[in-house]
Amino acid sequence: MADYQAPLRDMRFVLNEVFDAPALWASLPKVAENVDPDTADAILEEAGKITSGVLAPLNREGDEQGCKWNDGEVSTPEGFREAYQTIVEGGWNGLGGNPEFGGMGMPKTLVAQFEEMMQAANMAFGLAPMLTAGACLALDAHGSQELKEKYLPNMYAGVWSGAMDLTEPHAGTDLGIIRTKAEPNGDGSFSVTGTKIFITWGEHDMADNIIHLVLAKLPDAPKGPKGISLFLVPKFEVNEDGSLGERNSLSCGSLEKKMGIKGSATCVMNFDGAKGWLVGEENKGLAAMFTMMNYERLGVGIQGIGAAEASLQSAREYALERIQSRAPTGAQQPEKAADPILVHPDVRRMLLTMKGYVEGGRAFSTYVAQWLDISKYSDDDERRKHAEGMVALLTPVAKAFLTDRGLDACIMGQQVFGGHGFIREWGQEQLVRDCRITQIYEGTNGIQALDLMGRKVVGSQGKLYELFAEDVAAFIEENSSDENLRPYLEPLAAAFERLSDVTEHVINQAGNNPDAVGAASVDYLDLFGLTALGYMWAKMVKAAAPKAEGDTSGFYSGKVKSARFYFDRLLPKTVALAEGIRSGSQSMMALTAEEF
Ligand SMILES: Cc1cc2nc3c(=O)[nH]c(=O)nc-3n(C[C@H](O)[C@H](O)[C@H](O)COP(=O)(O)OP(=O)(O)OC[C@H]3O[C@@H](n4cnc5c(N)ncnc54)[C@H](O)[C@@H]3O)c2cc1C
Repeated sequence: MADYQAPLRDMRFVLNEVFDAPALWASLPKVAENVDPDTADAILEEAGKITSGVLAPLNREGDEQGCKWNDGEVSTPEGFREAYQTIVEGGWNGLGGNPEFGGMGMPKTLVAQFEEMMQAANMAFGLAPMLTAGACLALDAHGSQELKEKYLPNMYAGVWSGAMDLTEPHAGTDLGIIRTKAEPNGDGSFSVTGTKIFITWGEHDMADNIIHLVLAKLPDAPKGPKGISLFLVPKFEVNEDGSLGERNSLSCGSLEKKMGIKGSATCVMNFDGAKGWLVGEENKGLAAMFTMMNYERLGVGIQGIGAAEASLQSAREYALERIQSRAPTGAQQPEKAADPILVHPDVRRMLLTMKGYVEGGRAFSTYVAQWLDISKYSDDDERRKHAEGMVALLTPVAKAFLTDRGLDACIMGQQVFGGHGFIREWGQEQLVRDCRITQIYEGTNGIQALDLMGRKVVGSQGKLYELFAEDVAAFIEENSSDENLRPYLEPLAAAFERLSDVTEHVINQAGNNPDAVGAASVDYLDLFGLTALGYMWAKMVKAAAPKAEGDTSGFYSGKVKSARFYFDRLLPKTVALAEGIRSGSQSMMALTAEEF
């Protein structure tokens, strides 16, 4: 297994050359106060060192040792506590946090790069800062001033970590039927009672306190999703002076044994009249959760790219070293018993497919992060509203497409190793196991597809889709006279026309057929994602092509050639997807239960 090296060159290319992030930051006054290109660069450099040097070396041991439960206490794999301390000391937990409460106020476009490095280096560990950041976001957006002052500074510092407690044994996708209850105590606090399952880092020994954000129902709450409230429930109560008080009545009942991310604790959490405080308004808990979900869901998409990047780095190195058979065109390295497997077209297909999804996915996550930054920080109402629309539309694509393709890429990386990919030693099998969860949690990918097709596209009668379509059309129009880009713009325009036609087709079908959306949704999200990455690759060609000639490093010329592969071999998959969607729901719904 190659040692993970943070892909800083590529991240700088995406940030500075493809998206001109420094110009974006300068246009957002609240961001400009905190970051300039030099600061951003120093952060990237340091993030690279910590993730490659501290987190990556613990990845395998973490997987082997796992977390251990002992009478409600959870101990983490060797080295995790020290690594967590390094993350705390570097202030990484609060990188994107609100400066009013001790966060660093860095834009998501930059934070996303750090997240990718952390998830690529050690996904199990990376979930702890990720969940803390998510909990902070929800608290910052919806908590009272008092709660924010009391909890956020220590959470941004990482001295206290955060957990999100939504899922119950009988309620995962359908949170409307949760049973956890919250009874008012009459002093502003509530007693929370119920059982939550699958709670990531719900209990552990790395932080002094764990702040749970728990979904529960008030007495007499309306049935369904409109009767859910959000509560902050700390492991230890916090005294007026900020010191830790009594142990709250919540405990970790057990840890799940699972397929991957074994270094992380996945907890059953029992709340037994635990003291909690309302976050936001009564019965508006799900809406409060959604604030943070756009960030978290992009973060999960980034986990997919991160795992795939780690897999690609190893597979590339292996393909250069492993010798098997001769190249079809004759011996390339006659002095050796056989040629490196990189000479074989099929091995190249796998590596280029991985590159297509990883590098295209990195650009896409940065593109979505850019809209998140504008939606959060712009002081221009219209610009902000436009960005909010883009975020709403693109978030499910980022979550599901990047994790689906992330797993595909990890499996290809494993395949490049042949039998050795199946063997523990090389690390590829762990990446496959770890990456698999990204398709499931934070809302399954099937549910992301329904969100995209049903709520966002059909729900807005195509208006949200139009925002994205206009952005792409403007790019095609602006660059129509660019000779370098022409061979990419034509297939991009064709793919967009296909996507737009299918969008209109499903919107029309949805009015007459209740199954139309569900039958189209997953293929539609795939079609959308492939086309959106085509757009990203065209943007990368625009930045790289003028520098490709005479490029001795191979960076820019490699980028342009990789783009050609994407357009020749991956984008055409949109034709088959469009055809399948047009066939409608009939064949999907025709079988009776017995016929299954
Ligand atoms: C390792 C791990 C860590 C996790 N971490 C957390 C955490 O920190 N906090 C937390 O609260 N939860 C966490 N979860 C829970 C996770 O978010 C849920 O497992 C996930 O949302 C799916 O819920 P479920 O498992 O109940 O599946 P179900 O909801 O039962 O779904 C089963 C299947 O039916 C499909 N389905 C369900 N409803 C529909 C529908 N309306 N239309 C179409 N298809 C549908 C789903 O897509 C899925 O394929 C974690 C889970 C795991 C395994």
